[in-house]
Amino acid sequence: MKIICIGRNYDDHIDELKNKRPTSPVIFLKPETAIILKKHPFFIPDYSNEIHYEVEVLIKIKKLGKSIDSKFSHTYYDEIGLGIDFTARDLQSELKKNGLPWEKSKAFDGSALIGKWVNKNEFNDLNNLIFSLHKNGKSVQSGNTFNMLWSIDELISEVSKFFTLKIGDVIFTGTPSGVGKVNENDLFEGFINEKQFFSIKSK
Ligand code: MG
Repeated sequence: MKIICIGRNYDDHIDELKNKRPTSPVIFLKPETAIILKKHPFFIPDYSNEIHYEVEVLIKIKKLGKSIDSKFSHTYYDEIGLGIDFTARDLQSELKKNGLPWEKSKAFDGSALIGKWVNKNEFNDLNNLIFSLHKNGKSVQSGNTFNMLWSIDELISEVSKFFTLKIGDVIFTGTPSGVGKVNENDLFEGFINEKQFFSIKSK
């Protein structure tokens, strides 16, 4: 399986990092080795002094597809999740400045937290999901999928132009504002519509 991540999909986050608003979705990949194993903590890697958390709504692909028309995108997924795209922001800033690929800062071992999965039928409207991240019991990020520049169905269509989607692939749909630094012994808890999707500590 592969993990496809969307960057710059919420205006408020584009502004906080002073990035340009893209004219098409920003897409990057994480390998399967990026996934944090069940019940494991997030280990802060020694090559970064500034790991950021980015909470994101996730989609799990259930059917093989390529060049999917967005009106059929909904037939390619049943499950919705929530996760964290852990980012070595110091490394990423250096790579961006030099026009180099982001992988070292985005796709490292343990950079992808994938919480539990819930059937999409449990939600009334996937374009109006309220989600949040709590750090040590305090809300640090909150978003609504209504504010995505590209909706879930549009993202599936766009991504599948470039990458064949396979069963089990996961799409990280982008983060809202409020990203910040991970310190040792932080506790992160993620919620969609008040329902808890994950809980993880950093070490
Ligand atoms: Mg992200």
